[in-house]
Amino acid sequence: MNKPDAVSKPEAAHGEDDAQLQTALLPGWYTLDRDQPHLIGTRCKACGTYYFPKQSTFCRNPDCASDQFEEVELSRTGKLWSWTNACYKPPEPFVAAEPFVPYAIAAVELAKEKMIVLGAVIDGVGVEKLKSGMSMELKLESTTDGKLTWKWKPA
Ligand SMILES: [Zn+2]
Repeated sequence: MNKPDAVSKPEAAHGEDDAQLQTALLPGWYTLDRDQPHLIGTRCKACGTYYFPKQSTFCRNPDCASDQFEEVELSRTGKLWSWTNACYKPPEPFVAAEPFVPYAIAAVELAKEKMIVLGAVIDGVGVEKLKSGMSMELKLESTTDGKLTWKWKPA
């Protein structure tokens, strides 16, 4: 897995606007389109199972023996499945503001793939504003060190 220090410039090519000037906290995990970002996953070419983060060695479907995957942009919307409040600073590579500010973590079921993807909820939206089943969309937000990461936002 890439460490945040291993930021490479080619990732900026995904962006269309000012996002080009910013690099991803986790290069290759999401497009850098500021308005319509997508998480980047893989799909098994044999059984169609989706993976995020990317799977590229073997399919985890016990009924599938494939090791062939294609990279795909995943749905950028979904339904809120569950959530929690993060009241303690996570370990690196998480980049946290000092002093640490609690934030919500959402588990979102992607619209098409029906897989659950975890992510922080965008700044300014706490757990009190979240409701089970509500529509969520993917956004990019700058970390305190200026790198872009994905967040979930009520749609
Ligand atoms: Zn498979």
